[in-house]
Amino acid sequence: MTPYPNLFRPLDLGHVTLPNRVLMGSMHTGLEETGDWARVAEFYAERARGGVALMVTGGMAPNREGGVFPGAAGLYSAEDIANHARVTGAVHEAGGRIAMQILHAGRYAYGPNCVAPSPIKSPISPFPPQELDEAGIEKQIADIATAATRAREAGYDGVEVMGSEGYFLNQFLVTHTNKRQDRWGGSYENRMRLPVEVVRRVREAVGADFIVIYRLSMIDLVPNGSTWEEVVTLARAVEAAGASILNTGIGWHEARIPTIATSVPRRAFAWVTRKLMGEVAIPIVTSNRINTPEVAEAVLVEGCADMVSMARPFLADPHFVAKAQRGAASRIAPCIACNQACLDHTFSGKLTSCLVNPRACHETELVLAPAKNPISLAVVGAGPAGLAAALTAAGRGHRVTLFEKAEQIGGQLNLARQIPGKEEFHGLVAWFEAELAASGIALRLGHDATVEDLEGFDRVILATGVTPRDPRIPGQDNAPYYTDILTGRVTAGDRVAVVGAGGIGFDVAEFLVEDASPTEDLPAWRAEWGVGDPERTRGGLAAEGPQPAAPAREVTLLQRKDGRPGRGLGKTTGWIHRATLAKKRVEMLGGVEYLRIDADGLHITRDGEPALIAADTVVLCAGQEPFRPLAAELEALGVTFDVIGGADVAAELDAKRAIDQGTRLAAKL
Ligand code: NAP
Ligand code: SF4
Repeated sequence: MTPYPNLFRPLDLGHVTLPNRVLMGSMHTGLEETGDWARVAEFYAERARGGVALMVTGGMAPNREGGVFPGAAGLYSAEDIANHARVTGAVHEAGGRIAMQILHAGRYAYGPNCVAPSPIKSPISPFPPQELDEAGIEKQIADIATAATRAREAGYDGVEVMGSEGYFLNQFLVTHTNKRQDRWGGSYENRMRLPVEVVRRVREAVGADFIVIYRLSMIDLVPNGSTWEEVVTLARAVEAAGASILNTGIGWHEARIPTIATSVPRRAFAWVTRKLMGEVAIPIVTSNRINTPEVAEAVLVEGCADMVSMARPFLADPHFVAKAQRGAASRIAPCIACNQACLDHTFSGKLTSCLVNPRACHETELVLAPAKNPISLAVVGAGPAGLAAALTAAGRGHRVTLFEKAEQIGGQLNLARQIPGKEEFHGLVAWFEAELAASGIALRLGHDATVEDLEGFDRVILATGVTPRDPRIPGQDNAPYYTDILTGRVTAGDRVAVVGAGGIGFDVAEFLVEDASPTEDLPAWRAEWGVGDPERTRGGLAAEGPQPAAPAREVTLLQRKDGRPGRGLGKTTGWIHRATLAKKRVEMLGGVEYLRIDADGLHITRDGEPALIAADTVVLCAGQEPFRPLAAELEALGVTFDVIGGADVAAELDAKRAIDQGTRLAAKL
C-alpha cells in the first residue's frame, strides 16, 4: 500500500490511462541544441524508468521567428523528426510517455525577427517585435499545427501548447501587450481568439487519440493581466476546442514577483489552480514549488488539482516517483529550488544540470559504474564535497570511512539552512543523512581526523572546507564573523553593519532583517510581494501593492568594489535578494574603504569622504579561505591525497561546485 494513494491513482484520459498523477513539467535543458540525440534520449528515458506518468519536453519552436533564441530547437526537417523519434522510442521502451511542448516566444524571442500582436517591446528583451498582420497570424497558427503533426510523426504521445508565462499566446490575451483593433484584439472574445484557434487547429491536425495539454496562465502577476472571469472563459473555450489537459502557468517572465525560487513557499500557488476545479471537465494540473511526495499528495487530497506537475525535482532525482511508490521518500534527492545549476545555467547559455545531482543532463558522460578494484578510502569532512565523494565512492563499491569533526554532517549547509528563505537546505541535509545511513559508510562524527587516522587507507580525500577570511580591519577584535551570527553564538544588536556583500553578506543581511521567515508563512509571503487574488484584481496583483513587514534591524551592507552590491548573485535569483533587502530598507553601499571599528560603529571612506556607519554590531562576511590543515603533514609523509571543495579553492565556492567536484573525483576512483 503506497503512502500516497491519490498520487498513485491512475488517470483516464479516454484513449490512454496514465498510471499516476505526476507530470514532469517542461524544462529547457539545452540538450537538444547539443545535437547529441543519444544524450537527449537517455535524459528522458532515465526519467521514464523512474516512473513519472507523463513528461513534457523543453519548448520546441514552431518556426524561426518564434524560437526563444536564434537556433532554438524545433521540428523543421525529416532529420529533426528522426532525431526526436530516437527520444520517443527510448521513452516508450522504458515504459514512459512523453509530450512535446510547442513554445512560440512572441516578443520574448531573443532576436530581431520576433513577432507579437502589437509592436511593444518587453522589459526583458532588447528587441522590439514586429506587429503581425492577418496573413502573419495565420502563418503562426499553421506553423504551430504543423509542429504538432510532426510531433505525432516523431512518436510523441501528445503536445503541450505553451499558453502562459507571457509567451506569444499569452501576449494576445491581455491589453498590456495586445493593442489591436481587429478581430484579434479589443474585446476578450477577440483577444482569446488566437489561443483558442491554435488549440482547435492542433486538435484537428493530430486527431482524437493524442494528448493536447494547454498551459494556461492562471495568474499573470503583471499589470492589466487577465481577470479570473477571463481565465475561466478561456479554460472553457480551450476545452471546447479540444484540449485534453489544462496545465497551470504562474506569472509572466517579466513579473517582479518570484514564482519558483527557493524563497517562494512550497505549493504557493496551488490555491490558484484550485479555483478552476469544477469549471471544466478535463483534468487540471497544478504546479510551482511542489517538491516532495507529501506536498504533491496534499494538493491532490485538498482538491487543488487532478494532477501535479514537477519539473526541477526530476533533475534532482529521476526516480522521484518510483521511490515515493515504494515508500522510500527519504531517499529522494530533493530539489532545493536554488536554480543554480538549472535556470542560471540556461540563462548563461550553459547546459542545464542540478546542484544536488551533477548527473542531470550528463547521464551518458558522468557514469557511475561499479569499481573494478574496490579500495579503502578515507574522506575527511562531511560538507557537500566530502558527502558527495564518499557516497559516490561507496555506491561504486569502495570501502569508505568519513570523518567529520562536528557532531553533525552538512558543513556549510548547516549555515545556509539558518537563512530565512533557504529552509530547503534542511531537506538536503536530511537526504544526505538518509543516504549515509543506507550506504555502509563508516561515519566518524565528532572526530577531528589526524594523520595517524589516515594511515593505512589506500586513498585519502580532504574535504575540510573553508575558514572565514580575516579582513584585518583595525579594531575588529570583538566583531563577529558570519559563522558566529548564523550559529547563534553571537546575537546582533539593533543596528548592524555587514562587511562584504557576496552571497554570504546578502544571506546574513536577510537573516538579520527577518523576524520570521515568510517562506514558512504563505499569507505573510503574499503580503510581502503583493500577490493578490485574481478574482479581485487583474493579474492577481494586490491592489495595495507589496506590504513587507517592518525590518527586525537596521542593516547596512557594504563592499569595496564600486557599484551596487549584488551583481555577482545568481542570474535568476539575484534580483529577488536585492528586492528583499530593499523592501527591508537595507542600505547597500559600494566603493567603500574600511578604516576602523569602534564603539560607535564602522568608520569608512566613501568617494574620498570619511563617514561613520553607526552600528552596535559589525559582522564580517569578507569571503573565505581554504582550510586544509592536514595537507602539509600528509605531504611530508609522502601520502598521496586529493583536495576537493572549499579546501581546494574557496573563491566562488558553492555547494554546486563542491558536489560536482566530489562526485566527479569519486566517479574515477
Ligand atoms: P564572496 O562572494 O567572494 O564575497 C566576499 C565579499 O567580501 C565580497 O563582497 C568582497 O567584496 C568582500 N571582501 C573580499 N575580501 C575582503 C577583504 N579582504 N576585506 C573586506 N572585504 C572583502 O564570498 P562569500 O559571500 O563568502 O560567499 C562565498 C560563496 O558562497 C559565494 O561565492 C557563493 O558562491 C556562495 N553563496 C552563494 C549564495 C547564493 O545566493 N547563491 C549564498 C551564499 C553563499 P569587496 O572585495 O568588493 O569588498
Ligand atoms: Fe533544483 Fe537547484 Fe537542482 Fe535546479 S539546481 S534542479 S533548483 S536543486
